[in-house]
Amino acid sequence: MERVRPLPGRRRLLAAAALATVPSALLSGAPAAARSRAVDHPTAEWQPASGSNYTKSSRPTAYPVDHVVIHVTQETYADTLAIFQNPQKRVSAHYVVRSSDGHLAQCVREADIAWHAGNWDHNTRSVGIEHEGWVDRPAYFTDALYESSAALTAAICARYGIPKDRAHIIGHHEVPGSDHTDPGPLWDWSRYIRLVNFM
Ligand SMILES: [Zn+2]
Repeated sequence: MERVRPLPGRRRLLAAAALATVPSALLSGAPAAARSRAVDHPTAEWQPASGSNYTKSSRPTAYPVDHVVIHVTQETYADTLAIFQNPQKRVSAHYVVRSSDGHLAQCVREADIAWHAGNWDHNTRSVGIEHEGWVDRPAYFTDALYESSAALTAAICARYGIPKDRAHIIGHHEVPGSDHTDPGPLWDWSRYIRLVNFM
């Protein structure tokens, strides 16, 4: 086995790959402030929902934000983003968490009202987080998904002064008038609330 030349540094390859995907707007000098405002959660990737699928607002000035609503998608991560980007669907959430690695997409700014709870009053006062998976397939509820989501919820609670408890971090099925069952009985609430308080 002879390797005459060392392989190119992995870091250098990654840097080149990253540069190749930087949107041209960033390279051409978009204002720094505009860039930093693209997401509310620093590790989230901006994957905007169609403007037809949420209501522009100026929360928490326009409405108090005092709840986090936990959902399970019943779709894949990719299909969920596609649904939110489809102006016919009339549905969105602020965030989507990917099962395999806990990767976060932000689809609606927290200042705006996502259409996720099926209840206007709850939509106005909550941040909605979708988790990739199905209510009857607990394998989708990975450590990475729980930990990433809990860190996100902890940050949201800190931003708006929301108590980190089950009265304020609720399932979609607990929204008044909801006919949805998510996140379902296999979602580990005690673990989730413990993680949110640990973050
Ligand atoms: Zn839901």
